[in-house]
Amino acid sequence: MKWIEDELQKLEDQSLNRSLQTSAPVPGRQGYMLRGQKTLLDLSSNDYLGLACHPAIAVAMNRGLLSEGVGSGASRLITGNRPPYGRLEEALADWQQSEATLVFANGYMANLGVIQALAGRGDVVFSDRLNHASIVDGIGLSRADHARYRHNDMEHLRRLLHKHRDARRKLIVTDAVFSMDGDQALLAELVALKREYGAILMVDEAHSGGVYGARGEGLCHALGLQSGVDVHVGTFSKAFGVYGAYVSGSRTLIRWLVNKARPVIYSTALPPSVLAGIAEALNLVQTDQWRRERLAASSRQFRSLLRKAGFQVGPGDSPIVPVIVGDNATALHFSSALEAGGIAAVAVRPPTVPDGTARIRFSLSAAHTPDDLADAARRIEQVAHRLGVLAR
Ligand code: PMP
Repeated sequence: MKWIEDELQKLEDQSLNRSLQTSAPVPGRQGYMLRGQKTLLDLSSNDYLGLACHPAIAVAMNRGLLSEGVGSGASRLITGNRPPYGRLEEALADWQQSEATLVFANGYMANLGVIQALAGRGDVVFSDRLNHASIVDGIGLSRADHARYRHNDMEHLRRLLHKHRDARRKLIVTDAVFSMDGDQALLAELVALKREYGAILMVDEAHSGGVYGARGEGLCHALGLQSGVDVHVGTFSKAFGVYGAYVSGSRTLIRWLVNKARPVIYSTALPPSVLAGIAEALNLVQTDQWRRERLAASSRQFRSLLRKAGFQVGPGDSPIVPVIVGDNATALHFSSALEAGGIAAVAVRPPTVPDGTARIRFSLSAAHTPDDLADAARRIEQVAHRLGVLAR
């Protein structure tokens, strides 16, 4: 194990070591977290709609637990396909206005399973350079060729599609909202390109599901582009506040995934209580439009305050607001100084983001109030001045 110690030391030396920190919710105080004895404003979770502690979801999960037991006992193709799955998948298809949906254990497994089921040796997956790691890992698992195009560079994608025009099958995959930058994919252009080149288009709505659309269906629906997208993926662990994921599309697609997606076939089904929690969260996501409105207002307010303070916060109106500081050590210092000042905001470093673009990733929630954010922006500005981040 000596080599591991050496490698860990190298990570330390480059300010790239990662360690687990314990955070707990603060009873009765949404949008905050407890770290040790300290209460911090939570600008680091993906609980975009403030549902993670919602009592109605907790009650539904509790009911599911008492009526269906704590575990599902087997994979869905064995005996784990409990009644709540069917009901939930019907409700999800109705919400997504799709022929069918399939629930996965989480977004990571959904991306792995879909890509590995839709592409194999001799096929090409075209993937934005800033796509999430689960997409990159899915491409690896599929053994297809990985054609990475520069972030949102449609000309580059077109050149790659042209180069591989004779490939057996072509899959284009993108995040709808990029997880570390908070900007949006150029979905209309992607739909046009996939049609032109006869490719399948898959969109990961992990950070846009629940956040965009009249009923929180996601960015594709908000832009009226849903029918141009063949495979919609979303997670229940962010805006839904629970856990799990879905894939939505045609009946044929879902039948294929049941037959071929390894995470569905070879892993135990979700506990029934989790399915009950997702079903309740789905009701709230659809009906509580005020949460989306509040989140959008928070995003506008927070971005505008940071811009006025002199930060470059990147484009878009998503709840993900990155402040790029460049080097890893500065990002870590910035994050620790914010924590000392009562704000939890994570430093994101390579390999999660490209070298030289270490950043603080602020993420907002409908649980935050305008006062929370105004106060946070003031404190962030003070810390940045003290560390010389803003002077650069
Ligand atoms: N896709 C994207 C774009 C993500 O950001 C994440 C989570 N960080 C996932 C997929 C994985 O989702 P989950 O947390 O449900 O596994």
